[in-house]
Amino acid sequence: MTIDQRLSDEIDARREDLIQLTGDLIRIPTLNPPGENYRDICEFLANRLRPQGFAIELVRAHGVPGDSEKYPRWNVIARREGKRLGDCVHFNSHIDVVDVGLGWTVDPFGGALIDGKVYGRGACDMKGGLAASIVAAEAFIAVCPDFAGAIEISGTADEESGGFGGVAYLAQQGFFAPERVQHVIIPEPLNKDRICLGHRGVWWAEIETFGEIAHGSMPFLGDCAVRHMGAVMEEMEHSLFPALAQKRTDMPVVPEGAKQSTLNINSIHGGQAEGDADFTGLPSPCVPDSCRMVIDRRFLIEEDIDDVQAEVMEVLRKVEADRDSFRYDVRELHRVLPTMTEKDAPIVKTVAQAILDTMGTDAQFVVSPGTYDQKHIDRIGKLHNCIAYGPGILDLAHKPDEYVGVDDMLDSAKVMGRTLIELLASPEEAA
Ligand SMILES: [Zn+2]
Repeated sequence: MTIDQRLSDEIDARREDLIQLTGDLIRIPTLNPPGENYRDICEFLANRLRPQGFAIELVRAHGVPGDSEKYPRWNVIARREGKRLGDCVHFNSHIDVVDVGLGWTVDPFGGALIDGKVYGRGACDMKGGLAASIVAAEAFIAVCPDFAGAIEISGTADEESGGFGGVAYLAQQGFFAPERVQHVIIPEPLNKDRICLGHRGVWWAEIETFGEIAHGSMPFLGDCAVRHMGAVMEEMEHSLFPALAQKRTDMPVVPEGAKQSTLNINSIHGGQAEGDADFTGLPSPCVPDSCRMVIDRRFLIEEDIDDVQAEVMEVLRKVEADRDSFRYDVRELHRVLPTMTEKDAPIVKTVAQAILDTMGTDAQFVVSPGTYDQKHIDRIGKLHNCIAYGPGILDLAHKPDEYVGVDDMLDSAKVMGRTLIELLASPEEAA
């Protein structure tokens, strides 16, 4: 029997264990915000992996945004050394899940198995991927006990809120340094036959227009900041949005609509703050002296972030030329540069071959419209041999009745296990 066949049998024999493990992870509600039960899930993972020979480190990201005594930002890193020197393959999963929301027909923290699917918040994003990577590693160790190098599995905090208390913090501490880790797979739910090479860039900014407060019955005595912002939006409709729609990337971004540059207006606020929901009084009549808009610009690898900013400044300069007393300010809130791992990088080629061998289909290469923790591994860790690959349907992430298919988890565990064989098994073992 070939080693691939033995691995496949080992993984199939773990079907019930995989279902149990996925359900157990879902039953630890790790909602973010606020960041609940991180310590509990880290200890659960430590107790699972320690008997398999993994050395465990629990790392709290002290002092990062969101970290407090009530909601400490815990991470777990488990490392299993092989018998000889070799590369380290790291599987990184985030442990946090987003708010439940409305519309569920099953218990979001029940982890129920129904018709071959495990249900719950985080089932596909991404506790199913985490469980698949654990089962893949355990099955690989069973068939290749004399492997070279090392396997790491991490469970990290706060991916859904930027990853600063998770992968970014660990990368700053050297956990993703190229001398420690050579290959990274992030088992996000990208579908089991797709390899995600990277993501578009992000530029978030707040634009503020200024006016002058006056009595609302005599607006001519003041200057309305909301009307100034209206002029900004009109200019955006006129020049900026059409220009962005013209820009196309060669990155294989999915869905198709995200192959162009995009801009979302996240929020707009001018004048008095809205009253609390239980406030029954009327507002007072004032001309607003400030209006603020938060924009979320997603840009392409072909674009330069300086040009992205300059386009917005150009909109504001055009409005300024047209309007007396137009005053504004722009503040950057957040930036992430686009990243894309090369298609001939070792981890990409290895996983693509494993997909073909496991499922008989060619791997699809995709790029994510939004960012994920790869940005920190790439920029802070300086490690460029990184992809996202995992089970689950991306469209189900963050929705009610989220689930992950058991067969999908088994298939992607086989792909991960074959990847370990290719990268870490000795020639005698692989023969
Ligand atoms: Zn995710």
